[in-house]
Amino acid sequence: MASEFDLIARYFTRPAPAGLLGVGDDCALFPVPVGEQVATSTDLLLEGRHFFPDVDPRALGHKALAVNLSDLAAMGARPIGCVLGLALPRLDEPWLAAFAAGFHALADAHGCPLIGGDTTRSAHDLAISVTVFGAVPPGQALRRAGAKAGDDIWVSGELGAADVAYRLLDGQYPANPALLAATRNALEWPEPQVALGLALRGVANAAIDLSDGLLQDLGHILAASRLGATLEYARLPVAAAVAALDDAPRRRAVLGGGDVYQLCFTAPAAQRQAVLAAASAAGAQVTRVGQTQADPGLRVLDDQGQPLADLPAGFDHFPAA
Ligand code: ADP
Ligand code: MG
Repeated sequence: MASEFDLIARYFTRPAPAGLLGVGDDCALFPVPVGEQVATSTDLLLEGRHFFPDVDPRALGHKALAVNLSDLAAMGARPIGCVLGLALPRLDEPWLAAFAAGFHALADAHGCPLIGGDTTRSAHDLAISVTVFGAVPPGQALRRAGAKAGDDIWVSGELGAADVAYRLLDGQYPANPALLAATRNALEWPEPQVALGLALRGVANAAIDLSDGLLQDLGHILAASRLGATLEYARLPVAAAVAALDDAPRRRAVLGGGDVYQLCFTAPAAQRQAVLAAASAAGAQVTRVGQTQADPGLRVLDDQGQPLADLPAGFDHFPAA
């Protein structure tokens, strides 16, 4: 049977780019770009809690890194490298090979090589921990606290599909193979908006990545910036398959659905052209969905300008000031 060291050599050891010391020593080494700060973030994914036990391992490898790259994107940081902690309940080589392939493919696409980690046997469930490192010039990171009253609020990509796929797979919605086929990629293969985050440096005032739902995550920007906001429901970019659903599931998916890994950011109205230019340079779609204001609280208006009642759960948790 393969030892821990064989597994690491086979699946997690890649030639490190010049100037980096990758897998194989007690620490990895990477140069810190002169004059820049290191941005770092870590995410822990647990079987049964963050992913279904039978998920495609290639997709899981992709997503484990994607959710971390998304945090770098939200700060406007450029990826440098990452480390991977794995607690494995069993030694399943085909599973590991597929997981590693999904992980390395995304790492290569973003120039974020795997340079170290830890591998251990777990008694029960699978646990995956990824830490990313990135670089950003001092003062240029996109912070949650940077929004100003009167800023436009923007979101990238489309909303709602991941939530619908999750609820279908979880059995909360009746089986619907066509709807699952139309939404599943959004849940399992999120594309972190790294290029957009970089392009928004010096343009956006604040940013966050959408992991827990638009209202919740925008609420973090508002709380950190001590602002309120108004969103226009009709402006929100809704995934086509979700737009066709009934009101309640659509609203829950669009306003409350997590696992989006798109960016929500604010920028002064005077920067509208600059935002659109940044998005186009990054190959991203962005939509202006509302405005921040000094008044506390988060309102969502329908197309008659009336506040929506029955906002998805989580809304009550928003600090009003
Ligand atoms: P140590 O006992 O010094 O912590 P290990 O035997 O755990 O070292 O790991 C050996 C090498 O393999 C180290 O360079 C470590 O970073 C790397 N490594 C271990 N597990 C992983 C993994 N899952 N992904 C990437 N690198 C790993
Ligand atoms: Mg170790």
